[in-house]
Amino acid sequence: MTAAVTCRTCGGEPREGARFCDACGAAIESAQPVAEYKQVTVLFVDVVRSMDIAAAEGPERSRRMAGVNPKYVFRNYLAQQAIDALEAGDALPLERLMRVLAQPFDEQPENEEFAARRPDWARSKPGCSALSCSS
Ligand SMILES: [Zn+2]
Repeated sequence: MTAAVTCRTCGGEPREGARFCDACGAAIESAQPVAEYKQVTVLFVDVVRSMDIAAAEGPERSRRMAGVNPKYVFRNYLAQQAIDALEAGDALPLERLMRVLAQPFDEQPENEEFAARRPDWARSKPGCSALSCSS
């Protein structure tokens, strides 16, 4: 079901879905709203050296990789565990986490624990269910 759209400039009826009027070339304003605002929460994560990886893997493989969900995801509770260890003077958990996340699509049987869903203990622990922005 499409509402009839008429050209505001010449009154002609453009083809369905046309963005410009065939008769006069004016832009056609859709009856549908072009965009709507929604509140979203987005975490921007850039895989380290992702451009180098993309160049090395080639565009076809990169596209396939991008279309598949990674097995290993940088989850908040993983970050929090690494931060807690760092604060206690132990950098190994962070280094291990970064190594795992450097190959997020690969099977890493020895790192299976990093692919787990958020454990129950992390549900109520500050920093583990949502990272806060302190700006
Ligand atoms: Zn027109």
